[in-house]
Amino acid sequence: MAWDFSTDPDFQEKLDWMATFVREEVEPLDALFPGEHFVYDKQHPVHEGVVRGLQAEVRRQGLWACHLGPELGGKGYGQLKLGLMNEILGRSNWAPAVFGCQAPDSGNAEILAHYGTAEQKKRFLEPLLESRISSCYSMTEPQAGSDPGQFRCRATRDGDDWVIQGEKWFSSCFRYARFAIVMAVTDPDVPVYQGTSMFLVPTDTPGINVLRHTGLGSEEEGEGNHAYVHYDDVRVPVDHLLGGEGQAFVIAQTRLGGGRIHHAMRTVGAVRRAFDMMCERALSRVTQGEPLSKKQMVQEMIADSWIELHQFRLQVLHAAWTIDQVGGAEARTEIAGVKVALPKVFRDVATRAIQVHGSIGVSNEMPLTGMVLGALSLGLADGPTEVHKLTVARRILKQYEPHEGLFPREHLPTRRAAARAKLADFLEHAAANT
Ligand SMILES: Cc1cc2nc3c(=O)[nH]c(=O)nc-3n(C[C@H](O)[C@H](O)[C@H](O)COP(=O)(O)OP(=O)(O)OC[C@H]3O[C@@H](n4cnc5c(N)ncnc54)[C@H](O)[C@@H]3O)c2cc1C
Repeated sequence: MAWDFSTDPDFQEKLDWMATFVREEVEPLDALFPGEHFVYDKQHPVHEGVVRGLQAEVRRQGLWACHLGPELGGKGYGQLKLGLMNEILGRSNWAPAVFGCQAPDSGNAEILAHYGTAEQKKRFLEPLLESRISSCYSMTEPQAGSDPGQFRCRATRDGDDWVIQGEKWFSSCFRYARFAIVMAVTDPDVPVYQGTSMFLVPTDTPGINVLRHTGLGSEEEGEGNHAYVHYDDVRVPVDHLLGGEGQAFVIAQTRLGGGRIHHAMRTVGAVRRAFDMMCERALSRVTQGEPLSKKQMVQEMIADSWIELHQFRLQVLHAAWTIDQVGGAEARTEIAGVKVALPKVFRDVATRAIQVHGSIGVSNEMPLTGMVLGALSLGLADGPTEVHKLTVARRILKQYEPHEGLFPREHLPTRRAAARAKLADFLEHAAANT
């Protein structure tokens, strides 16, 4: 059995190239074009003018869409390598798009690759993989997010079509998406996990009405990236059903498992960025005749943050390694574990970084409050922390059995009595010899 925390030198060279490229070529986009809408609005001139050139360079380096297998134009790198790469991409809002792996398009592409028809792949998958269009994943409903048992959006069969009727909430990127993957109940008489199906819905299909574009935090009302969508008798042909009737949650599990670990990997990079800012400020700002870095309470914040970041990074890389060894389904405890850990470590480190910066930290001239909001969002997107904690606990508890008997297995008097019985001969002999 091998325990090895090193990166092979050839791959380290690629990582070094990525780090420089992201810092020098991609981060300027974050400074001038902040906000998700620039990234997903492929019609914005910055895509043609700047981003395509950067993407071409990434392709030349063989680093484009590395989460995908070679049949889809990727490298098929395992999760561990992706973990190290995503850590670099996580420092920048634009970097995932420049490297062809931004959510939700990365997961949606995998679904289409598995379940789309040849015509659908030509029309939607190819331009998605080439980063010419955006896509959306439309599952959450206004009355129910983490409890799918309350989903009401229905799809009913009518001749050669499926007809979708219902509402979806927080459908990110809908505004710029060429298509949405919509989850709808097709059989209300069975449990929701067996009665829900997934549909490919082009966003120009008649009957789709966007009620609002909800935003985050202080974004202007109605201008955000998360659509509240009404599907009013939206008709799609039968071949737009993805993966068979009742299969939505099985497919979603595959998609979300990958998505969650990639979010976690990128969060390592984002936390590191907040941590770097905190350390730099601690060394730069002088108060009462000495830099903040000399104050013990600031040192404590730095030590706590480094330890939490380091623990989280190892946890994420271990989860990635586990997926490589046993597959995503078997690694669900590890994946849920990092999903639980990521909002907390991100929020805690970014909050301490704000504290060390003082007023400028909380101001709109630094990215730190955006990071705290990002951390809070990550505690909800792809399912709230509490639900993932339940997954961890349920799966861990399966490895245990109840102990019969009045006292616990580790009850000291009981163990001592058992040990006395086991070693009776020795104890008797020892007593006789004293
Ligand atoms: C930035 C962002 C982007 C998103 N993008 C998308 C998207 O593209 N597509 C999409 O379909 N959805 C998207 N969502 C929605 C997301 O999936 C939901 O927010 C999430 O599933 C929680 O649902 P909810 O918001 O309805 O909260 P609720 O289900 O109302 O839950 C609220 C709170 O109740 C508590 N809770 C819930 N269940 C349990 C439980 N079992 N045990 C203990 N406590 C519990 C938790 O504290 C939870 O945070 C996005 C959300 C965010 C924040």
